[in-house]
Amino acid sequence: MVERPNSPVCPPRRVLMGPGPSDVSPSVLAALGAPTVGHLDPYFLNLMDEVQQMLRELFQTENSLTLAVSGTGSAGMETCIVNLVEPGDRVLIGVNGVFGGRMADVATRYGAEVRTIERSFGEVFSTEKVAEAVREFQPKLVGLVHAETSTGACQPIPEISKAVHDQGAMLLIDCVTSLGGIPVEIDEWNVDAAYSGTQKCLSCPPGLAPVTFSKRAVEAMDARSSKVASWYLDMSMVRNYWSGQSRAYHHTAPINMNYALHTALREALDESLEARFERHHQNHLGLRAGLEALGLKYAVDESIRLPMLNAVLIPEGVDDKTVRGRLLNEFGIEIGGGLGPMAGKTWRIGLMGAASTTSNVLLFLAALENCLQ
Ligand code: PLP
Repeated sequence: MVERPNSPVCPPRRVLMGPGPSDVSPSVLAALGAPTVGHLDPYFLNLMDEVQQMLRELFQTENSLTLAVSGTGSAGMETCIVNLVEPGDRVLIGVNGVFGGRMADVATRYGAEVRTIERSFGEVFSTEKVAEAVREFQPKLVGLVHAETSTGACQPIPEISKAVHDQGAMLLIDCVTSLGGIPVEIDEWNVDAAYSGTQKCLSCPPGLAPVTFSKRAVEAMDARSSKVASWYLDMSMVRNYWSGQSRAYHHTAPINMNYALHTALREALDESLEARFERHHQNHLGLRAGLEALGLKYAVDESIRLPMLNAVLIPEGVDDKTVRGRLLNEFGIEIGGGLGPMAGKTWRIGLMGAASTTSNVLLFLAALENCLQ
């Protein structure tokens, strides 16, 4: 039996360079400790307005329905799907990693008729492949993962979006790992729904899921003939709490997590998106140079590599768990192992948000070199 603890929590200090969560900046951590107010307190309602406005800037959108769902990235995924899909609706999902697979699972659970198109882990979809499937299947919704955290591949969106819309479908994208680290241009790319998480390039603890819906997506929700299958994630109620006249109670928002997100968003925008993307890019280049000097090879082609998630092949004869264990126990550095078919074959090295620094790159390379000797 686990004994009753007699001391406060005292987690070890880590450098979080895995697939997320990433390092949280001190000001975001401090915001978590600010006094909790009520979820209908005018102070908090105003803070929610500001969170929404800053999320619009981050998502590069004017979408009025943009907010932070109470829950992690997967709650954002479920929110988008459950609100846009009614039982029997056709949904096409691109599966080229773990998270496309999760999207298909979620859509199936909510009664959609799901068809998947598939690519090997580490590859992305061509416009032709998606266009062909959309023409054939005529889905209501197409779901793609912009930044596949399980593989480190970046799915190009703009051209595909055009092909999806040419056939009258809506486009949903997973931006859990991309938001705040590379451009996510919801309006420019004509994306109908997108979700993210707080614990990657926003460098907040896990716990909220930013989402945004286009006017067309909102119209589709308003035209539903069935109730949204999840009470908690039903945007027709949640949006009345986040905006409008009534600001009616729906659920008790995680107040302090919203303080943290507010702080993280303000920091990201103070840095400027352009500078933030450039920082992620430069630190990725630094890491890549060092990894290549150590003889490691990337698992995905250079043209589609994510700067914030570097998936590299584990060298022949090197034991995955021994190295990751040493990095953690001797150097305090967390990196991720491979997922799905990449388990035991790749390491996933994150350079996300506050963890994307030159000093982390150098620290990691020195530690890895030591572990590989
Ligand atoms: N989608 C992607 C691309 C992710 O990387 C993750 C988490 O790593 C998720 C969805 C799910 O998010 P969460 O674990 O916060 O529920």
